[in-house]
Amino acid sequence: RKVIFSGIQPTGVPHLGNYLGALREWFRLQQNAGADDALIFSLVDQHAITVHQDPKQLRQWKKESLAILLAIGLDPKRCILFHQSDVPAHVEMMWILSRQASTGYLGRMTQWKDKTTNLIRGNSTSADTPKPGLSLFAYPVLQAADVLVHGATHVPVGEDQVQHLEFSRELATSFNHSYGKGILTPPTTLISPAKRVMSLVNPNAKMSKSAVNPKSRILLTDSTEAIGMKLKSALTDSVEGVTYDPAVRPGVSNLVDAILYTSDGEYGSQEDVVRDLQGASMRALKEKAAESVERAIGPVREQYFEFIADERMLREIATDGAERAKQNAGVVLKRAQRAIGFDW
Ligand code: ATP
Ligand code: MG
Repeated sequence: RKVIFSGIQPTGVPHLGNYLGALREWFRLQQNAGADDALIFSLVDQHAITVHQDPKQLRQWKKESLAILLAIGLDPKRCILFHQSDVPAHVEMMWILSRQASTGYLGRMTQWKDKTTNLIRGNSTSADTPKPGLSLFAYPVLQAADVLVHGATHVPVGEDQVQHLEFSRELATSFNHSYGKGILTPPTTLISPAKRVMSLVNPNAKMSKSAVNPKSRILLTDSTEAIGMKLKSALTDSVEGVTYDPAVRPGVSNLVDAILYTSDGEYGSQEDVVRDLQGASMRALKEKAAESVERAIGPVREQYFEFIADERMLREIATDGAERAKQNAGVVLKRAQRAIGFDW
């Protein structure tokens, strides 16, 4: 039996990278799941607050993110969809696991290093420079808890999360070593073929919800025109023709990838795309990318606007999801609590 778990931060409307790297895989897994398999997807608001969030904005994003999960085709009858902070078992499990988490290892995590340099660099002139807090440092432990407390066997994510999942496996193994075999399940990482969609303005960085420049990402709610405009202004290079070479031509290669992964089987590989666009101008490449992206995410946008209008339904789904998530997480949490001697 498979237990599939994954999460997304409600830190903005999900973008093309989230969709191709994670959300679309979640949907595929749902479509291919066996009757016994569990599918659990969380809006991880506790991860969102590891950097400052405006409360009003966060509320809105939580709602919008849930609507997106429905819009991509996740079925609340088939999946458990819930907000992380509605299920206290996650933080309880985090505290239990924290004993096994090495501070040296956490300090070497690439996300910690990136985000702390960004925080410090981005605000070096302001008097109230936000200092990275304990939660930003410790959040991989919470992420491990998210996965382990649900007994996940498989976790579909983009490439940037691979290191964190390796950490989750190590925590599970080390916990089991201390307290008994089989208490926690070290999960398998599932990586999507489109594992790293790059920013449109800086193709050496991944596309991100939290990047400052809104032109760096295509949102799943962007209009056809907005998609066209953002791709038109995407950074490429002045080499003639279309080739695929991510190290030398990151911008062009990112667009080739975007076409391949939104082509719905029309192309089998990057080479196929390149062959089709041989000698094409940058403008033609961008237009082709815009068409292909629109075809892939247009239907999501249409659905989204229906779901976001029905607040009552969103609330019902979140309440029901939280109940079911509590039940599921309770099983492993109890087992872990018993193993360490919390029962007496
Ligand atoms: P933030 O900047 O707030 O961290 P994010 O864009 O990285 O936002 P997350 O909510 O952190 O989004 O990640 C949700 C899922 O999307 C994860 O599985 C992550 O690996 C995947 N993902 C994020 N960005 C990309 C990307 N550019 N390409 C492929 N997958 C991605
Ligand atoms: Mg992220």
